[in-house]
Amino acid sequence: MRIGYGFDIHRTDADRPLVLGGVTFDDAPFGLTGHSDADVVIHALIDALLGALALGDIGRWFPDSDPQWAGADSRRLLERVVAEMSRAGWRPGNVDITVIAERPRLAGRIEAMRRSLAALLDCAAEQVSVKATTHEGIGPLGGQEAIAAHAVALLVPAEPDASPAKPPAGPAGGEELS
Ligand SMILES: [Zn+2]
Repeated sequence: MRIGYGFDIHRTDADRPLVLGGVTFDDAPFGLTGHSDADVVIHALIDALLGALALGDIGRWFPDSDPQWAGADSRRLLERVVAEMSRAGWRPGNVDITVIAERPRLAGRIEAMRRSLAALLDCAAEQVSVKATTHEGIGPLGGQEAIAAHAVALLVPAEPDASPAKPPAGPAGGEELS
């Protein structure tokens, strides 16, 4: 198994739509600033996956100096990382995400985010946890200046018999070590 952790934070911006976990919140009081669509949930998840694969970070894969990612739909970025994960022989065991947002209240959209992320990860919604909390009015997060997300991802071999992490075969003759 491989485990990875990701964190991301974006400033709020009243002139942009709010997109979290690939879900657009039409009724949100603000969106987030960023080079792409600023989906802080997907960005944290991407970093968790890349961390588990030891393949660098989102900034290396999708640099904000590169115009091709301007306004990018973060779902497309996640798809690219998921393809890379599959190529390397891994699939998600489960992922767990915590979003920190003072507003809007996310409880009513948790299931939509889980389904959205599960579809992108090509796994079941039961393998995807999304939790939301506020920052209790404390600091920039509590003051609605930003929204942040933490993510952890556990990866398992896509095919147990072809595990990239499988130890080398034992000595010829099937001798067992005790
Ligand atoms: Zn980001």
